[in-house]
Amino acid sequence: MDFTLSEEHKMLQTMVRDFANDKLAPVADELDRKQEFAWDNFKMMAEMELLGLGIPPEYGGSGGDELSIAIAVEEIARACASTADIVDAHLCLCAAPIYRFGTEEQKQKFLPALVKGEKVGAHAITESEAGSDVSRVQMTAVKDGDSYILNGTKIFITNGDVCNVVLVFATIPELGERGMTAFLVEAGTPGYSKGKKYDKLGMRAATNADQVFEDCRVSAANRLGEEGRGMRLFLETIDHGRIGIGAQALGITKAALERAVDYAKQRQQFGAPIASYQAIGWRLADIFTELEAARLLLYQAAWLADNGQPFRTQAAMAKVYATELAMRATTLGIQVFGGYGYMMDSPMQRYFRDAKLTEIYEGTSEVQRMIISGALFR
Ligand SMILES: Cc1cc2nc3c(=O)[nH]c(=O)nc-3n(C[C@H](O)[C@H](O)[C@H](O)COP(=O)(O)OP(=O)(O)OC[C@H]3O[C@@H](n4cnc5c(N)ncnc54)[C@H](O)[C@@H]3O)c2cc1C
Repeated sequence: MDFTLSEEHKMLQTMVRDFANDKLAPVADELDRKQEFAWDNFKMMAEMELLGLGIPPEYGGSGGDELSIAIAVEEIARACASTADIVDAHLCLCAAPIYRFGTEEQKQKFLPALVKGEKVGAHAITESEAGSDVSRVQMTAVKDGDSYILNGTKIFITNGDVCNVVLVFATIPELGERGMTAFLVEAGTPGYSKGKKYDKLGMRAATNADQVFEDCRVSAANRLGEEGRGMRLFLETIDHGRIGIGAQALGITKAALERAVDYAKQRQQFGAPIASYQAIGWRLADIFTELEAARLLLYQAAWLADNGQPFRTQAAMAKVYATELAMRATTLGIQVFGGYGYMMDSPMQRYFRDAKLTEIYEGTSEVQRMIISGALFR
């Protein structure tokens, strides 16, 4: 068994780390305060072809595999988790399913512009009564000739205020419980509008808004996958997405650990650096150990995905472990910084606020445990 990264993966890691250190980290706090979509970061990532990871060159992408996405997202999140959040919604939850499930015409139509950052993608399934239980989606798609009439509202949608393409899930009433179907809706389509914007605790430079569909006519050419295949399409997409969220959590954990170690080495109390006290040093050692464990779990899930093997359980394990670690790491990080850790000009508070979201979206920790226990007791 070889645990080393390939030369290509190492080069990608170095390139993204340098970019994230130089361009993303210096502006992360300011973007967090402004709570506006991080346009400059988005454009820079497009220029560096990071928005095309996992998409083949014939559709404008830069190729690479699931592991490449995990490596890049961790490095981006270490500097600015909001920016990693934007990538996840745009690439993993919108462009990637178009590549995986789209017709040749859909791939040619949508992917080049998404990959080049000329358009922003989003993914919308959540509704007020359909959160963890996505089978409760009420939005309807009523067939009318060679098009569908969409009605319903999606809430909390990442990139939702700026997106030009949204992958949206609605149910075709005549198909009953098996009616969930996916559609690609473009900005400017009559009957489609952006709704309420949100003021968030963390990940504030990845902005969220409701998506409103009122008698919105969408051509059958914009249906992604077959009628009634939406649930399967959603579940497969989210399995990949969870690797991305786990990678976000790794990046946040790494950033918090690095800051805490630096601070613990220089902060002196009782005549010695606080790092020399086991209450501090050993707890940081535990986070360091868990970070390695979480990364191994995540890379295993990515490896399974890249090798065409089932990976749903491993992706759920990686997500729940890495995201809960991010909360432990950032909580400890604040403790290590003492009173300064609680202040809004300390570096830890942003990591702490950003980490919390990773435990919630793309399936809460409870939902991940439902998947894992389902596999355990199958
Ligand atoms: C910032 C942000 C960005 C988001 N971005 C998107 C997006 O881009 N696209 C999109 O479609 N959605 C998005 N979401 C929605 C997100 O995926 C949901 O919020 C999440 O899946 C949880 O659903 P809910 O909020 O309705 O909580 P609920 O499902 O109401 O859950 C409430 C609590 O009950 C628990 N719970 C629920 N069922 C069970 C059970 N059977 N057993 C044990 N516990 C249970 C949950 O784990 C949670 O702790 C986003 C959410 C946020 C906050």
